Amino acid sequence: MIDSHCHLDLAAFSNDWTDELQRAKKAGVTRLLVPGTQAGQWQQQQQLAKDASSIIPIDIALGAHPYFLHHDEDEKALVRQLDVAFEEAVIAPVAVGEIGLDSHIDVPIETQKRCLQVQLNFAQQRQLPVILHHRKSHHRLLEALTKVNRHCGGVVHAFSGSIEVAKAYIHKGLYLGIGGTVTYPRASKTRDTLAYLLHHFPGHLLLETDAPDMPMFGRQGKQNSPAYLLDVVQTMAALSEHSEQEIISFTTANYNRCFKGVE
Ligand SMILES: [Zn+2]
Repeated sequence: MIDSHCHLDLAAFSNDWTDELQRAKKAGVTRLLVPGTQAGQWQQQQQLAKDASSIIPIDIALGAHPYFLHHDEDEKALVRQLDVAFEEAVIAPVAVGEIGLDSHIDVPIETQKRCLQVQLNFAQQRQLPVILHHRKSHHRLLEALTKVNRHCGGVVHAFSGSIEVAKAYIHKGLYLGIGGTVTYPRASKTRDTLAYLLHHFPGHLLLETDAPDMPMFGRQGKQNSPAYLLDVVQTMAALSEHSEQEIISFTTANYNRCFKGVE
């Protein structure tokens, strides 16, 4: 099982990331991807990936998450920082991210759009996939994607939305990250979409926890962990004709196609 989105570099895990990884490994996690949030963390992510490699292989992505942008962020300076970080990276990043648009935060949407667009272009120049964050922003996100000539795919992480929106992303060559939200029985709309996707587009789904955020159903109030990834697989199996093993196997193949260029 691959956790395609886990913020293991954040302070929440600083004391016990080795324990956390041991638990994840025991639970069947074979690899995880730590996406970038802000320039100040990029070094830390690489260190973590190096230190953790004896327990579980870790892939990293570098990018600037909309949450952490300054209100007047200079997008040209951001690209220069990314350029340097990619040149100097001791572990080759597999993607640009986490980048995106969020309608629930104070950072002006125009700032977010500028920073998203330059990072999408950067990913295209580097021929790398992207990791996209959305919150009430599907329409704008799809619009931003159309402005990139030939993007290299990627994932819409923590996907929730309608079948139509899901198809729009899939038609742009993107994968959809499925995480803790679907474990909640009350998330009936998202579960309906997922059931449809599991039947029609199993080749476009990735597993994720978004730990330490997005607690799984039944584990509210507890910090989320990559060790709980199987909860997502179990929900997916319950919503489909696929067995847990089949889900693990096709999401692993999808991950390798998306981020490793493995056909
Ligand atoms: Zn995230």
